[in-house]
Amino acid sequence: MSQTETPRLSISIAAGKGGTGKTLVATSLALALNDDYPGEVQIIDCDVEEPNAHLLLQPEISSESPVHVLVPEVNLDICTRCGECAKACQFSAIAVIRQAVLTFYDLCAGCGACAYVCPVGAITEVQRQVGVVRAGCVAEQIDFVTGYLNVGDQRATPVTKAVKERIIPERINILDAPPGTACPMQETVEDTDYCILVTEPTPFGLSNLKDAVDTCERIGVPCGVLINRDGVGNQGVDDYCAAEGLEILMRIPQRREIAEAYSRGETLAEARPQWRDDLVQMYKRIEEIVSSQYVQEGVS
Ligand code: SF4
Ligand code: SF4
Repeated sequence: MSQTETPRLSISIAAGKGGTGKTLVATSLALALNDDYPGEVQIIDCDVEEPNAHLLLQPEISSESPVHVLVPEVNLDICTRCGECAKACQFSAIAVIRQAVLTFYDLCAGCGACAYVCPVGAITEVQRQVGVVRAGCVAEQIDFVTGYLNVGDQRATPVTKAVKERIIPERINILDAPPGTACPMQETVEDTDYCILVTEPTPFGLSNLKDAVDTCERIGVPCGVLINRDGVGNQGVDDYCAAEGLEILMRIPQRREIAEAYSRGETLAEARPQWRDDLVQMYKRIEEIVSSQYVQEGVS
């Protein structure tokens, strides 16, 4: 990227806990930006355990693809029950008990170590479907991608990875991360240019915000804060941001009209023109922050 051209940013929207308004912010930002950058915005719902961006955006879905992971399959006709596979597995995902070899797919990381160490070649790796990726379009302009983890499956990260493979680098990418700071959130935020951390100004919100900030710092993604329901709670989040040098990018007030708009399935951008403008301004501010970092790092 040249230092003079305006980059198309990849921005993740995350929150240390669910229910903070993260998806409302992500969908509102995508719609607001589409007004200024028509046809250049892509929204990716990476919350594959509970995707809900589609509820607010009502995309037209045009494709669906399965997501597979590799898991071991044991041929008991040639297996000698030696136990080497169980010893090699760091995830306790395969066990040899008397005459049986048990595989626990929920724990399996698909590393292939068991097949590698099996002395008689009794293990083959087979594909197992863990979810789907759906893609489509919002208002015929915004690219939309979402993932669904199979009900009962716990391996969200492969589905998140599959969703992220659909990123179009030339677009402005808005990634709605899963709540919390576990692996699927980290997988979402990783490699984005900037992370907006949505929080509420309460002691609980502050505690979760600190975890999310630590996570962003650890994976090397710059972050700023959006305070939702501003006006409730106390000054703790403001004081923390001031002490840590974290920029508060935007405040969304605690207002009945927002809750009513949300209950009608409307985004902030649709509820009031001022918020649409504020969201675009927030994006432009993030552009400045990211561009200055590129300059400081000497990237050209
Ligand atoms: S390592 Fe191979 S032969 Fe040994 S118990 Fe496992 S599957 Fe059976
Ligand atoms: S593929 Fe890896 S994680 Fe899965 S059972 Fe084999 S050794 Fe364990």
